[in-house]
Amino acid sequence: MSTIHQAVILAAGVGSRLQDVVDDRPKGFLEICGEPIIEASIAKLVRAGISHIIIVTGHLHQFYDSLASKYPFVSTVKNHAYATTGSMASLKIASSLLNSDFLLLESDLVYENQALSELQRSTQKNVILLSGPTDSGDEVYVGVKDKRIVNMSKDIKEIEVKGGELVGISKICIDLYMKMVAQCERVDAEQYQYEDCLTDVSDTTEIGFHYLENLIWGEIDDRNHLERVTETVYPLIREKERREMIEKNPQRKILLNPGPATTTDSVKAALVVEDICPREQEFGALVEGIRQDLVRIVHGEGEYECVLFTSSGTGAVEACLSSVVADDKSVLIINNGAYGARMLQICSCFDIPCIEYKVEWGEPINFPELESMLADHQEDLSHIAFVHHETTVGLLNSIDKVCDLAGRYHLETIVDAMSSFAGIPIDVKKQQVHYLVSSSNKCIQGMAGIGIVICKRDSLERSKELRKRNFYFNLYENYRFFNERKEMQFTPPVQLLYALRQAINEYFLETEKGRADRYEKSYTVLIGGLEKLGFEFLVDKEHHAKILTAIVEPHDSHYSFTAMHDYLYERGFTIYPGKGGQRDTFRLANMGAIDSNDIEQFLQCLEQYLLDSGITL
Ligand SMILES: *Cc1c(COP(=O)(O)O)cnc(C)c1O
Repeated sequence: MSTIHQAVILAAGVGSRLQDVVDDRPKGFLEICGEPIIEASIAKLVRAGISHIIIVTGHLHQFYDSLASKYPFVSTVKNHAYATTGSMASLKIASSLLNSDFLLLESDLVYENQALSELQRSTQKNVILLSGPTDSGDEVYVGVKDKRIVNMSKDIKEIEVKGGELVGISKICIDLYMKMVAQCERVDAEQYQYEDCLTDVSDTTEIGFHYLENLIWGEIDDRNHLERVTETVYPLIREKERREMIEKNPQRKILLNPGPATTTDSVKAALVVEDICPREQEFGALVEGIRQDLVRIVHGEGEYECVLFTSSGTGAVEACLSSVVADDKSVLIINNGAYGARMLQICSCFDIPCIEYKVEWGEPINFPELESMLADHQEDLSHIAFVHHETTVGLLNSIDKVCDLAGRYHLETIVDAMSSFAGIPIDVKKQQVHYLVSSSNKCIQGMAGIGIVICKRDSLERSKELRKRNFYFNLYENYRFFNERKEMQFTPPVQLLYALRQAINEYFLETEKGRADRYEKSYTVLIGGLEKLGFEFLVDKEHHAKILTAIVEPHDSHYSFTAMHDYLYERGFTIYPGKGGQRDTFRLANMGAIDSNDIEQFLQCLEQYLLDSGITL
């Protein structure tokens, strides 16, 4: 079961047989259906649970380096002698970044997910992936004996017992890798290829193989290959994977409640990991990477620190409020929904003086009113706290406007961005946020149980001087502990962190814009459909956060939220009751690993329900 987490992609080569096709790009940047093949490969690797991809570059390395800036889980290392050396020289160079068993791939491959999932599942330590006949015209045959590989050749006559065709995707354990590196040094030939090296060491090391008769894949070395892949291989893969998706998950649950949100299968799968003590260095590195990447999501690199708690989102809000306000200062809290009201409750438990700016739930902030309140209490205040996306009603409070105002009154800002973080682009530096709070189970699409606070480092450092009101939830102490020990202060939720790692990788894979666009499209389809059915919304559309919508309940004697919920729940859709506001509502969120197709199916189901139960709007 031990999943492989590293992969090496060999991408140094010149690809001379393709130069007239790719001209100014390296082979991996050949596009099929508008997507560079290397990006498709990276996406497959991430979904197969790979969290660190090392690309060995050479020819036109800057293309691959751009991937390393785009994806936190991609690193590049350059083989400077790429023009004169074989693939073994490149593989050797990856040693500086390799610290565990890994998958080895070539950069010019197009393949189906099964290639990776079979290697991940295999119990053998070293596995060379083989396929049935491809007729690609460039086959490398692999000779086998007693379940091990013995040699490889393009000349079938040199093969005694044919095991299959070499795909170019292998699972290599770190011991074998060390042997290959030693062998490479012994052979001392510039043009030494990794395939030859595998054959050479196979005498002394057991290298297994995995044969997949019908694996769909292609390598692109010349114009004919490109044609074969574009016209045959790629469409076959797409069709097969679409079918598999449907077959694998007929019972997929669509959560339209405001978090925990629907997660991907790969995030769910990431929960199952080998037991590990969280005091191990390896685990520290995992948490460190997560902290950095959470900061990166809101563009706080260099100036912000992330503190994690084992708690739901409210725990992180409580940690923040109870750790950063001085005894002789107060915090102004904007209350236009249940989560703003919750901040007031937290302050009351800790006797933190606060000033409430109350707006009718569901109504936007009246800025002149807010400003006059700030002016009146300027002397006492040190912080202003508010909810970005007020999930009670689906209202978006403007970070720009509130934080700008706060800046003018020299106040620090605490933003509950629970249900907007990773769903709506946020830039903590530009928007002058001092503390931003979220959790693992909303738009970041991980599992519930991790509270996240992203803190401006200066502010956090200054909070060290304050009298402590709390212990477990002290923001500064948790931060200090991690910095000094590279460990979380108290027992972390080990498996949830692995799932969060996976969720973060999938966020970067989708990109900030990609995620925001997907959510917005789901929202647009949702409200369009609801309006067509005759529903009304609690909040004016111009203030919608576009991640959750509060819908006014029908005035029809046949209507019952519970009956509607149960009908939809039985059919795989979970909806949520309303909370507060001047009118009775129910709520639908479009966060999580769902898209507009799911929303369309939901709308059909809802329409059927209304018909079946004779509700008119
Ligand atoms: C979900 C949510 C919270 C936290 O709720 P928990 O139940 O503690 O996870 C806080 N604020 C907002 C705006 C939320 O949407």
